[in-house]
Amino acid sequence: MPKISAITLGCKLNYAESSAILDLLSKKGWEISSYEKSEDLIIINTCAVTKQAEQKCRQKIRKIIRDNPGSRIVVTGCYAQLSPEVLRNIAGVNAILGSSDKYELPLYDVIHGNESLHPLISVSEIKKEKKIFPGYSLPASSASDRTRAFLKIQDGCDYGCSYCTIPFARGRSRSLSPEDIVEQASTLVASGYREIVLTGVNIGDYRFRGVRLAALLRMLETVGVDRIRISSIEPDVLDDELIAVVADSEIIAPHFHVPLQSGSDAVLRAMCRRYDTAAYRHRILRAVEAIADCFISADVMVGYPGETGEDFQEMYRFLEGLPIASLHVFSCSIRPGTLLAEQVSSDKTIVVDPDECRLRSSELIKLGNMKKLQFMARYVGLECMVLFEESQKGVHGSQKYSGYTRNYLRVSVTLPQSAGNLAGSILSVRIEGVDDDLNLTGRLLF
Ligand code: SF4
Repeated sequence: MPKISAITLGCKLNYAESSAILDLLSKKGWEISSYEKSEDLIIINTCAVTKQAEQKCRQKIRKIIRDNPGSRIVVTGCYAQLSPEVLRNIAGVNAILGSSDKYELPLYDVIHGNESLHPLISVSEIKKEKKIFPGYSLPASSASDRTRAFLKIQDGCDYGCSYCTIPFARGRSRSLSPEDIVEQASTLVASGYREIVLTGVNIGDYRFRGVRLAALLRMLETVGVDRIRISSIEPDVLDDELIAVVADSEIIAPHFHVPLQSGSDAVLRAMCRRYDTAAYRHRILRAVEAIADCFISADVMVGYPGETGEDFQEMYRFLEGLPIASLHVFSCSIRPGTLLAEQVSSDKTIVVDPDECRLRSSELIKLGNMKKLQFMARYVGLECMVLFEESQKGVHGSQKYSGYTRNYLRVSVTLPQSAGNLAGSILSVRIEGVDDDLNLTGRLLF
């Protein structure tokens, strides 16, 4: 049986899709193997969200080709959709498949070694794509797998933020049917997963025959999984109905990742975001007031062209006053083909100095860590239910197990070797402290 593996870069959606493609090929007689350098075929699922992400993909592709002279290499994902010409120049790539084309992989000769001198390039026009392809984690094969599965429910985006290249890579917003999603979720539960993470590009924009995300969540509450997690939600669709569904649920995790991007209204307008700071604050306050233990994290971007020192201070003060527990800080990356790239090409003076970007970024990272420590410290002395994942070797023959609470706090406990395998178990932990990596530490309550 020919062997196949997938190397995935980028977001949870990419991981869900890589697994679905492997599952597709396993049904055609391929043996799925974790990357062991002896596969017949290796899929590399790429990301193009920033310039750095693309550079990382090129490095990874070259390394995999060097390490696997006998394998056929198929490159897919957002970078393949946006820049096939760049990827075709990497010697050793056998095929480049676009965002939709990757699901046609079983049909291509290349997988059977009939490759020509030049890589096969199949990149369809994604803007017109109406179809949505599935994405779900592979059936759990071991206890340590039975933790968290990814499940794609939506793809593409219609928002058109000025700096974003994702709509060009993934097309218009489109959603899977609730029936398909519930069926895939039931399959994941049957294979032992305890938590399902719903993923997409803009999942708050989920809509299928009038069914929106809140209604879909109610349906998913019935599949018998312990936890359902929303991977990310745009502020303008974090509405009262959704907040109420999460507040009333024992299954849907009290955890929102709500991209803010900027805390300055002037910069938000320039970014073409669909809210201002007042609306954002209103949504966040509604969520933390209604949902016990609600953990909110946010993406924030520094150095958006035109962002002044005053804009940055405005953002800093805005974030200081918000009950947000964690910040993901990015420096703006000017992506080809975006509205922002056009603006910068006509006026380069608006570009923020890289040193200034680094300074602003480090200030927000410090603020984010302070807010996270404040949020985490509230749990010291309390009991939390933790879904344990993998274990690491501890000191003196002990082993360190870690996992997440319902509201996405990472917790670790240290146990003797004899304690057995906790992966995939949901157990009660008495929280005793916060470690230097801003993870909670505690003692298992048997
Ligand atoms: S909401 Fe904006 S940033 Fe997010 S994927 Fe859509 S266009 Fe990009």
